[in-house]
Amino acid sequence: MAEVNFGLQEEAHDKRRTLMARSKPGRTGVALSASDVPPQTMPPSSMLRDDLELPEVTEGEVVRYFTYLSQLNFSVDTNFYPLGSCTMKYNPRINEAVAALPGFAMAHPLQSEGQMQGTLEALFTLQERLREITGMAATSLTPLAGAHGELAGVLTIRAALDARGQSQRMKMLIPDTAHGTNPASAAMAGFNVVSVPSDPNGNIDMEALRAEATDDLAGVMFTQPTTLGLFDRNAIEMCKIVHDAGGLVYGDGANMNALLGRVKLGEIGFDVVHMNLHKTFSTPHGGGGPGAGPICVVEELAEFLPGPVVKVHEDATYHSVMPARSIGRMGGYQGNFGVLIRALTYITLLGDEGMLEISANAVLNANYLLAKLRPVFELPYDRTVMHEVVFSAKRRKGASALDISKRLLDHGFHAPTMYFPLVVAEALMIEPTETESKETLDAFIETLFKIDAEAAEDENFLHGAPYNTPASRMDEARAARQPHLRWEPSG
Ligand SMILES: *Cc1c(COP(=O)(O)O)cnc(C)c1O
Repeated sequence: MAEVNFGLQEEAHDKRRTLMARSKPGRTGVALSASDVPPQTMPPSSMLRDDLELPEVTEGEVVRYFTYLSQLNFSVDTNFYPLGSCTMKYNPRINEAVAALPGFAMAHPLQSEGQMQGTLEALFTLQERLREITGMAATSLTPLAGAHGELAGVLTIRAALDARGQSQRMKMLIPDTAHGTNPASAAMAGFNVVSVPSDPNGNIDMEALRAEATDDLAGVMFTQPTTLGLFDRNAIEMCKIVHDAGGLVYGDGANMNALLGRVKLGEIGFDVVHMNLHKTFSTPHGGGGPGAGPICVVEELAEFLPGPVVKVHEDATYHSVMPARSIGRMGGYQGNFGVLIRALTYITLLGDEGMLEISANAVLNANYLLAKLRPVFELPYDRTVMHEVVFSAKRRKGASALDISKRLLDHGFHAPTMYFPLVVAEALMIEPTETESKETLDAFIETLFKIDAEAAEDENFLHGAPYNTPASRMDEARAARQPHLRWEPSG
């Protein structure tokens, strides 16, 4: 029978109880220097509270407690993290070292261009590299996240259509497999979103697409590879249909791992592409950022890009400029500069050969999992995959996608993305990334077989997982309906 161990939960409670028990009135972890500003009167006592049961302990004890808590965090630096569509790959430490160089870390956005030539050259070089990677004409680095890049991209499409005198084009088509940010971005930019179904092979349904190619069509937002991890072979034909109808094609390139050095979305026919530097180009992410979602566009759209962008003059000096008919700024100054430098470091060090190795290994690892895990899961779209594979966990009673995900936590693995994309029942979306070794993948595979056997033996066992984590299974419905957002002293 499977091991169940509540040790970690007890340990976490113990640590807290010990900290509270060590509290002695007057013991303190800080020494404030004398105030050098005039004292102010306190707010009225009705606005103050004295019911916070905070322990009075030494600085060392506080540090130990918080360091203990920090070690309960899951991270890609501690364990395998196959969260589909999120590309939790290893972030090389050299990226950090370069971003921390004083010339980059201490640069101030209001310094004169004359003093900033090296920094501007770095930004220009990244613009050029992303332009080459996507096969496009121009880049803006300023969007601060993937979804922010989407918004910038569809606003650029809006501006280009208006400039063509085609403001009546309001309809944006989005496949039913798309990431939820796509329809949200299109709606924020004022478009009417129309969902397009997928065909039985997981590609966009071409008949449905043709039926929507009317004269109010603004364009399509398309993810390649799709969120099913598949390369949609209809993409070239799709671009042609949309272009012939007078629309433009937006490419969601958040996950470019499988394409690097092999496929240029610009050559397929896309007009705008955003990339997530914090996924494909290995800058740390999770917990809300910071990230970067640069966009690349074809020639016609370049003058509408958000600014500033960096241009090089004939005398080889670099200048930060707003494109002629820019949609404006997406944020302050040059975007998330530190993230941009990390991505540039990654791209530069790997070079062309390295880009090819990334895509080769990302695809190999995902297909290795596909081949090995066939006996455990259903495979709704039985095709060679790109950077990730989407299984269905509906084969075995007592082992839902949620149950399996929770039990994986007990074994030190992060859960895959689950219940997404919506077109797959009990979806488990697994993205191994190219940075994992065969041994790690084998351990993960072996664990999934073990979990499957546990469910076969006892239909109810997995419903209680996780058993060995500091917190056990949450009541997710209650957490959503009655959110508990304030810390309160517990008894
Ligand atoms: C992650 C992702 C996004 C959104 O990126 P954020 O940086 O989280 O805003 C958009 N589309 C796809 C396909 C993604 O995987």
